[in-house]
Amino acid sequence: MRDLISVIGAGTSGLIAARRLGELGLESTVYDQKSVLGLPVRASGILSITGLEGLGMDYSGCVTNTLYGANIHSGGKTLRVVSNEPMASVLDRKKLNDSCYDQAVRAGAKLLTGRRITGAELESLSVRGIVIGADGAASSVASHFGFGEIRKFALTYKAEFEIEAPESGVVDLFFDRNEYRGLFAWTCPNQSDILEVGVGVLSGFGNAKAAFDNFVKSKVISELVGNRKPVTEGASIIPLSMRRNIVNESRRVVLVGDAAGQVKPTTGGGIIFGGNGALIAAGAVARHLANGSPLSNYETEFRRRYGLDLKLHSLINGLYSSFGPSGMGNVISALNVFGIDRFLSDYGDMDRPSLILKRFFLRGLAR
Ligand SMILES: Cc1cc2nc3c(=O)[nH]c(=O)nc-3n(C[C@H](O)[C@H](O)[C@H](O)COP(=O)(O)OP(=O)(O)OC[C@H]3O[C@@H](n4cnc5c(N)ncnc54)[C@H](O)[C@@H]3O)c2cc1C
Repeated sequence: MRDLISVIGAGTSGLIAARRLGELGLESTVYDQKSVLGLPVRASGILSITGLEGLGMDYSGCVTNTLYGANIHSGGKTLRVVSNEPMASVLDRKKLNDSCYDQAVRAGAKLLTGRRITGAELESLSVRGIVIGADGAASSVASHFGFGEIRKFALTYKAEFEIEAPESGVVDLFFDRNEYRGLFAWTCPNQSDILEVGVGVLSGFGNAKAAFDNFVKSKVISELVGNRKPVTEGASIIPLSMRRNIVNESRRVVLVGDAAGQVKPTTGGGIIFGGNGALIAAGAVARHLANGSPLSNYETEFRRRYGLDLKLHSLINGLYSSFGPSGMGNVISALNVFGIDRFLSDYGDMDRPSLILKRFFLRGLAR
């Protein structure tokens, strides 16, 4: 009997895995507990253009805005990292999920919606083949098969307001350890007349909704938002660390995306790293079925390609979380003096800090 491949979760990671499996000639069944995929939208859709290109997917119909950089605020100081070239796209998350769905189905995946898979059913699917857990940060697959915990989470609250952003191609990030410990508050022009306002705080160190309410009342945001009510709003969680292991070889279970904790701890962005995790996992599954090579090759390859970058993101997150507003303001002033703002505008890569370091040292050597 042929091995079944079951993907639990039809978010971007699960759908990218299913698409890749289809491209490699393998059939998979994707299960999702939701009957309408991609809703409600609780996350933002800021993705680096280089990262998106690397995922090899069609996202052309999902772009709602183009971003050229960010203003980073703390302690009354601002670091402006804005390029002449586009750095990121803002994508409509529902449309992105729909596009990933279409691409997975076109590649031959079978989708079953309105199906929550836990306990006995997971057990039976794993006996009959390979299980890919793409079921998000609170993964049932990870708990059922005894994967290690995700140690660090951010709690988020975000809303969209019908207003024009002060700068249409720039995100504003606000760092204040006392208010948004472990992450930050932000505004992002999702569309020409829709401004997203959000807050993330480290779980155990604050209440995201209370921090959001204070942020909206702050001078800078209240002047923009006035008395308007949000057109969308809601809370969510983001994993800020990877699980200790993401493959269970004996049970033939692998985790991808948020379920694995494949998220940048600096920003909470998970689509690029989770999508790449899904692509690598699909390749390892195909090789396992073709020649019996271990599924753990997936974990080895993922950590080899992205481990250093995720560690650097974690280090940067630890650094900015440790500074109070005035300390962070001083760091910003120093970075401005040393011209880091211009360097980041020219060479900044949102996903790969290792490449920024490489370019920084190469530039130093070239002088
Ligand atoms: C406020 C916020 C802002 C963000 N901003 C960005 C950003 O700008 N850029 C970026 O790259 N990332 C961002 N992220 C992170 C990004 O949204 C996630 O990394 C990404 O959605 C993870 O995709 P996933 O497919 O791994 O998991 P999910 O999107 O969580 O999908 C998991 C799926 O599994 C299903 N499921 C769960 N349990 C079961 C079960 N037992 N049986 C069947 N189905 C199940 C769920 O219904 C869901 O559809 C943000 C997140 C938040 C919260």
